[in-house]
Formats: sequence, structure tokens, C-alpha cells
Amino acid sequence: MGDIGNDVQRASSLDEVNIFFDRAADRLSLDDGMRALLKTPWRELSVSLPIRMDNGEMLILQGYRVQHNGARGPYKGGVRYHMEADMEEVRALASLMTWKTALANIPFGGAKGGVQCDPSSMSVSELNRVTRRYVQNIDHILGPNRDILAPDLGTNAQTMAWMMDAYGQIHGHTPACVTGKPVELGGSDGRESATGRGAVFITTEAVGDIGMVMRDAKVVVQGFGNVGSWFARIACEQGCVITAVSDANGGVFNSRGLDVQALSKHVAESGFVAGFPDAEDLTNEELLELECDVLVPAAIDRVINAENAGKVKARLVVEAANHPLTPEADEILANRGILVLPDILVNAGGVVVSYFEWTQNLYQHHWPEERVNTELRQIMSTAYKAVREQANRQQVSMREAALMVGINRVARVVEMRGFVP
Ligand code: NAD
Repeated sequence: MGDIGNDVQRASSLDEVNIFFDRAADRLSLDDGMRALLKTPWRELSVSLPIRMDNGEMLILQGYRVQHNGARGPYKGGVRYHMEADMEEVRALASLMTWKTALANIPFGGAKGGVQCDPSSMSVSELNRVTRRYVQNIDHILGPNRDILAPDLGTNAQTMAWMMDAYGQIHGHTPACVTGKPVELGGSDGRESATGRGAVFITTEAVGDIGMVMRDAKVVVQGFGNVGSWFARIACEQGCVITAVSDANGGVFNSRGLDVQALSKHVAESGFVAGFPDAEDLTNEELLELECDVLVPAAIDRVINAENAGKVKARLVVEAANHPLTPEADEILANRGILVLPDILVNAGGVVVSYFEWTQNLYQHHWPEERVNTELRQIMSTAYKAVREQANRQQVSMREAALMVGINRVARVVEMRGFVP
């Protein structure tokens, strides 16, 4: 375990992501200069967002945008609305976007944004005002050939519609400045389900490689938002049995399998998964320790860590969320023979279909969903095979292999462009 022991408990998301980066950079024998260039964000913006709440009070929220690396194309990455969104977290997530777009081999760099707020406690009009303020305050670094926003934790198609509108009021109608928009406003068919669908494609490939089948595989999903709920629905269609899911308030469990459609209806009506009939309630901590074939963290970061990694009872962990495992947990699971599929591979489907959306907007064209899903599958499958081949050839984990492929592609382009005169 070397030197990461207890220090990792206090490490920031960025420190942890950089531990993963350094392991891959060591394998690639990157020199110190290139390491520093690839780790350092190219531009960071922190903005204050004063807004009037519905009760008349003024609230000043903090917003962030980190453009980590633009060597391969315009910066690309989601914006999250969450109480823990801060510069360190956004920096970490922005760097993951750089390796993710490179691994998927789409022509973007990496970025991330965040607003420190609790969207569940805000009204629709308050959220609209915060969103407009955020775009107005960072609009000088945005644009279809500069930096393209997208949804993430706590944001959705409605948020993207407001962002597009706010940007358009300054620059004129520009649908390609934001992806994940409603289809009526130039969004792509298949974008909403893309991250979950892409994650199921990757899971299916890996399940086959380790001699399992999707049919009757027991699957546990943490998070029932965009990514988790689509993962559950599509995995169910593949014959998986979804035994447990959760949201921020806790989860539900049924060893015979949950009716995911009925559960979605229950969540739409009540707002929570808890209380779903024909299932037992359980906590998020209990859910992560359930016996299952496939465990899918699809909510927030660092939920599997040194404390609970020894208690995970899955055969396969599928990182649908960004950075759900600490480096220490990663090592514990590896030592226990549990295969981990890394975030930059598993959840790349979202940014891949964002790329399709951006392309459609630039050409003012609309693809049928079948084309979106077929091309998504091709890109995910190519990325999976590149990672598996690298892992086998170098005898490294899937995470190290994925990062090696992504980092190497960015490093090569940095050299070619002659960035460092
Ligand atoms: P979302 O806001 O739609 O859903 C998040 C879900 O997680 C909700 O069910 C919420 O209740 C739950 N949650 C929040 N805090 C929790 C906690 N402390 N414990 C357990 N559950 C909790 O967000 P999303 O878009 O589904 O994003 C989920 C993860 O996937 C994030 O890590 C995000 O960065 C990543 N991701 C999202 C996309 C995308 O296209 N939306 C793409 C790539 C990666």
C-alpha cells in the first residue's frame, strides 16, 4: 500500500485523482515537464453569483469553471450544482474530463464547472436566476469553439435550456454552446440516456470477458438520478435483476428484483426511492455492502473508501459516477480480486453523445436515436477494447490502462502542437 495510508483520508479529490494520474504517468515514463503541464489546469475562473431568493433575501453563491486542457479541442465538461462543489473538486473532475474525451477519441479537451448550492432546496425560478448569473459571469470563456457546457450532478436538460438562452442573449442564438439540451431546442435524441446506456455497454463487454452473463446478474445501483436510473432501466432490459437502488435519502432492496418502471413512477410521484412498496428500506452504507454480481456507484464521489472497501461483496464494480473510489479502496478491491471498471471509460457515453449533439448543432441537422445509439456503441466498444488490450499488454489494472491511453493521446498532441516554445 506504500505511502497512501491514512493521508488519503484527508486528501482532497484533486490529490486523489493526481495519485491515479501519477501511477499511469510512471508507467508511461512521462518526464517531469510533461507531467506538470498535463496536471496543471490551463485556466480557472471563480465567480460570485448574487441572486434574489423568492423571499426577497439576497444570497451570494460561488461558481467555478476549470478549463483543464484544450490540446485536443474545445474544453468540454458538465456543471454540477452541489453543496460540496468547490475549486478543488471541480479541478479534479476537469482533469478526468481531459482523459475521458481523449480515451473516447472525440475532439474535445476537458473542463468542469460547479455552483455551490443545494438545488433540492431551491425553487424553479431561483434555479433559473442562478443559472443565468453563472453563464453571464463566465460567458467570456465559453462558446462552441472554446468551451461547451453540459449537465452533471444536480443539473438537467432544463438547466441547459436556461444556459443556452442566457448565452444566446449575449451572443445570438448558439445551440452548440451547450449540450444535454431538450430535444426541442436542438438537443440530441438519446442524450438523456447516453451515460447510463454507455455504462451498460461497457458492463456487458466486461461481464462477457470474466465469464459471466448479464441475464440474471444481480445488480445494485447507488444513485437514481440521470445516470443511475437509466443504467437500471437498460440493464433490466438486458435481463439483469436490480436488487437495490438508492438516492441521497436512502435506498430500497428486494432480493427477487425491483420493478424498475414502477420504481421510476414511485420516484416521480414521491420524490424518493424510499417507501417503494414490495421492498425493504436500507441505508446507502448498507447498500454498498450488499452481496451482488455488479455494484454500480452512480451518485457522488469517494463513496467506496478505506472504511468500506473490505466489505464490498460484488464481483464487478462499475464506476458510473465520477471518482467514486479512493485510491486506497481501489487497491483493496484489486487485492481482493474484484474487477473495477474506471469512470473515464464507464461514463464516457454522456460526453460522446454530447459530441454528437454539438456536431448536429453545427450542421443544423438531427440524427435519429437509432443512429445515436449505434455510433455510441461503436465508440464505447472501441474504447473498451483499447483499455483491455493495454491492461493485458502492460499487466496493469483497467484504471491504469484507461488513464495511460488517455494521457498518452493528450501528451502526443501537446508535443505535435509545439505548445512549449
Ligand atoms: P443526478 O443529480 O441526476 O442524480 C444523482 C443521484 O445521486 C440522485 O438520485 C441523488 O439523490 C443521489 N445522491 C446525491 N447525493 C447522494 C449521496 N450522498 N448518497 C447517495 N446518493 C446520493 O446526477 P447524475 O447526472 O446522474 O450524475 C451522477 C454521477 O454521474 C456524478 O458523479 C456525475 O459526475 C456522473 N456523470 C454524469 C453524467 C451525465 O451525463 N449526467 C456523465 C458522466 C458522469
